[in-house]
Amino acid sequence: MGCNFGKTKGEGAAGSDKKILFLGLDNAGKTTLLFKIKDDEFKDTVPTVGLNVEQITYKDMTLTLWDVGGQARKLWKHYYDKVDGVIMVIDSADMDRMKIVQDELSKIVVEPGLETVPILIMANKQDLEGALSQTEVSELLNIKEISRKNLIFHSCSAKTGDGLWEGLEKLSKLWI
Ligand code: GDP
Ligand code: MG
Repeated sequence: MGCNFGKTKGEGAAGSDKKILFLGLDNAGKTTLLFKIKDDEFKDTVPTVGLNVEQITYKDMTLTLWDVGGQARKLWKHYYDKVDGVIMVIDSADMDRMKIVQDELSKIVVEPGLETVPILIMANKQDLEGALSQTEVSELLNIKEISRKNLIFHSCSAKTGDGLWEGLEKLSKLWI
């Protein structure tokens, strides 16, 4: 199978099955990103109630992507012990809520179930005029203060697809 990924936690984690949890505030673009990765097309989404699950094959990995509704932030933690990675999606044009994002992120990085899992932060909606750059978002989120090796940052647009695959590529390297 040509799989050279180390064993990580989570059900089905042996080999190259990875469960990835999408986190982020409502309207960040999680569902759009999920479908863009899945189908490579931009769809109008309806707010997620509950859970969207999609499975894709990426290189030699099977990625199961779980999109938990952003409104149900208290429920996120029920998924933590079952995942191999987290993609946190951020609306880069939503300056008003960066402080809330920062708070959520600071909780996520110290969650007992998530200490060892790779985290990819996606500064989404880069196609929007007025969107903050990757550097600006990372400064507002105080990324430098987070001492964690397996945390990476990438910018993207779930609408155009720019940066999406590069982000996934970076994430996949964290499992090697
Ligand atoms: P979720 O609540 O995080 O699942 O967010 P959605 O995926 O439902 O997206 C919320 C809104 O933002 C929808 O109107 C999407 O079409 C829009 N959206 C998501 N990603 C992008 C993006 O990269 N660029 C633009 N312009 N709009 C986006
Ligand atoms: Mg959604």
